[in-house]
Amino acid sequence: MAGRTPITVAYGDGIGPEIMEATLNIIQAAGASIEIETIEVGEKVYRRGIDTGMESSAWDSLRRTQVFLKAPITTPQGGGYKSLNVTTRKALGLYANVRPSVSYHPFVHTQHPTMDVVIIRENEEDLYAGIEHRQTDQVYQCLKLITRPGSEKIIRYAFEYARAHHRKKVTCFVKDNIMKLTDGLFHKVFDEIAVEYPDLENETWIVDIGAAKLADTPERFDVIVLPNLYGDVLSDVAAQIAGSVGLAGSANIGEQCAMFEAIHGSAPRIAGQGRANPSGLVLAAVMMLVHIGQLATATRVHNAWLKTIEDGVHTYDIFNQGQSRQKVGTLDFAAAVVARLGEVPQMLKPVSYEASQNLSLWRQNVGQQKKAHKRLVGVDVFLDWEPGSPNDLGSALSVVTVGPLRLRVITNRGVKVWPDGLPETFCTDHWRCRFLGEGDTVQPGQVVELLQRVMEAGFDPIKTENLYLFDEVPGFSAVHG
Ligand code: NAD
Repeated sequence: MAGRTPITVAYGDGIGPEIMEATLNIIQAAGASIEIETIEVGEKVYRRGIDTGMESSAWDSLRRTQVFLKAPITTPQGGGYKSLNVTTRKALGLYANVRPSVSYHPFVHTQHPTMDVVIIRENEEDLYAGIEHRQTDQVYQCLKLITRPGSEKIIRYAFEYARAHHRKKVTCFVKDNIMKLTDGLFHKVFDEIAVEYPDLENETWIVDIGAAKLADTPERFDVIVLPNLYGDVLSDVAAQIAGSVGLAGSANIGEQCAMFEAIHGSAPRIAGQGRANPSGLVLAAVMMLVHIGQLATATRVHNAWLKTIEDGVHTYDIFNQGQSRQKVGTLDFAAAVVARLGEVPQMLKPVSYEASQNLSLWRQNVGQQKKAHKRLVGVDVFLDWEPGSPNDLGSALSVVTVGPLRLRVITNRGVKVWPDGLPETFCTDHWRCRFLGEGDTVQPGQVVELLQRVMEAGFDPIKTENLYLFDEVPGFSAVHG
């Protein structure tokens, strides 16, 4: 039908079909102008032997509509199935995960009555790039990748989101006192981009104390932007302390596509009983309506939902004696929201999206950086070597020299063990041997020759990392201790 916005809908597994029916009842009653394409994803598709949980025709629908409202799915245990969420995020380039965590005090129990935090999590990189290796008998490695374009995209999105939604402050969480290069880059990019938004406050916290503050006084935070792993952990903490894991929705935003879902799973134990709370998916659908520019409908649905919560019409999971008035099932809850369309809450803060800027039309230009001059000055050679005396290793490798390359330091799990190591340091079978000149440029062929010589000396190199200066600034961490 002309004028309607096509969206792709997946009913999912477990409680998925019930909460999706309830959600669609509400948004259609509110006048959402949408044209639904239904796709099948999840358990049944996995069981047909499709390891991504989604048929190719479903991908076609997503590419066509570019908007995905998804109910939770069950990932079957074992069997090499891939997580549908991870696949969808990566395939569609959904770089931003946006999760509001709001308290509904006194109607939903929480220790933090005024909490209203939006966590914006980088969704594609960090330790979730999935690059892991077993390197020795004892040691396994997972690569943490933080990129400048990835950081720019998520951080600029966070500031744009804050501005579009009339927020006041953006907070960055990092651990750059330890990871000076990776988290250091995220922090640096945050500081650079913050300057472009003088109308918004900005601040940075080390993630450990920041997380503690978030759990203790969440009301002091507004919008938080952070790398993937910290965001994964802290967005669940934020939802939980708001008192409302079952009430939170999330958006996964990309340059072209976006996916909207509840943050909870398919809750198989209560599936088919008509008891599940559809609120997480309803609030995800509100975010979708904002995304597709149907702001008045988003406002109507959200305010009617708030009024329903305020009137004490609650599903079993948030029902509490005293505050709740009526215990309802999934579809009756939806009917209660529909009955309140056009009303606004009296005690809870009403929402109004009409004044929000439509971010889905906003496209960012990731800055073209001037290419730094890269100069090779050394190499870290990692060895698989039985735990032994670091001094023996140091003596054996000190005689291996090629061009300007000399053994300067050996570390084990990042701790310096040669020269002048401490006998107390526990050592594994994974040794990093740093060969550097005195700042002279090293030729790539000299690294290859060094590796050959190390092997001839009877050692087992498992990997190397080239040591570069970028515009004469070291692109590698210093060795401490
Ligand atoms: P879950 O979120 O499904 O359930 C956790 C608990 O919360 C259960 O006790 C459940 O009864 C309750 N609950 C969850 N949603 C509810 C709702 N809407 N109303 C009332 N109660 C609700 O987590 P789980 O049990 O760990 O996972 C079940 C399945 O869901 C697994 O297969 C998991 O892989 C999948 N899962 C999917 C998604 C997704 O599709 N985005 C997310 C998380 C988990």
